[in-house]
Amino acid sequence: MVTVGVLGLQGAVREHVRSIEASGAHAVVVKKIAQLDEIDGLILPGGESTTMRRLIDQYGFLEPLRQFGQNNKPIFGTCAGLILLAKEITNQSTVHLGLMDITVTRNAFGRQKDSFEAALTIDGVAENFNAVFIRAPYIERVGESVKILATYDDAIVAAEEGPFLCTAFHPELTKDHRLAHYFVEKVKESKKDLQDSQ
Ligand code: GLN
Repeated sequence: MVTVGVLGLQGAVREHVRSIEASGAHAVVVKKIAQLDEIDGLILPGGESTTMRRLIDQYGFLEPLRQFGQNNKPIFGTCAGLILLAKEITNQSTVHLGLMDITVTRNAFGRQKDSFEAALTIDGVAENFNAVFIRAPYIERVGESVKILATYDDAIVAAEEGPFLCTAFHPELTKDHRLAHYFVEKVKESKKDLQDSQ
């Protein structure tokens, strides 16, 4: 069985744990850097990216998280987690992990659409997926190696690049675990590849 960690500094942590477990993997809440050695994949949850970054810095997590991604370990960023993964953030000179070749705009759907739900088609993952958006970002630009998985109103809201997966919405807030399942399968493949290469 693979072990998937959920970064447990802030945000929607418990819901992700439940949805990983429902997808047949072992879940752990990651609060210490040493735990990164015990997991095969990591979820960066939704919440508030600036608060999360402050806590990441406070606990010295920035470089270890970056290293985790640079070692090709799968990371799934949801909402604020997507912002943490981006190489570029609109109107902002500093970025966080800078692992995915995407440009992200924060709170991009505007005030009157602070939170909403939409049925999405997620390429290769799910049809009719009920996506919950909460003060969501969207992806403004993707690099050549990024695969767009879903759009809403012409905005890119889910993408994948090598070991990295991201959604602008919160897939963990409903009982539909198809995205978590997709990520768990990705983690399984990556673990197998790693074992084969050793
Ligand atoms: N607006 C938040 C941010 O910029 C993200 C919202 C969320 O994760 N639900 O960090």
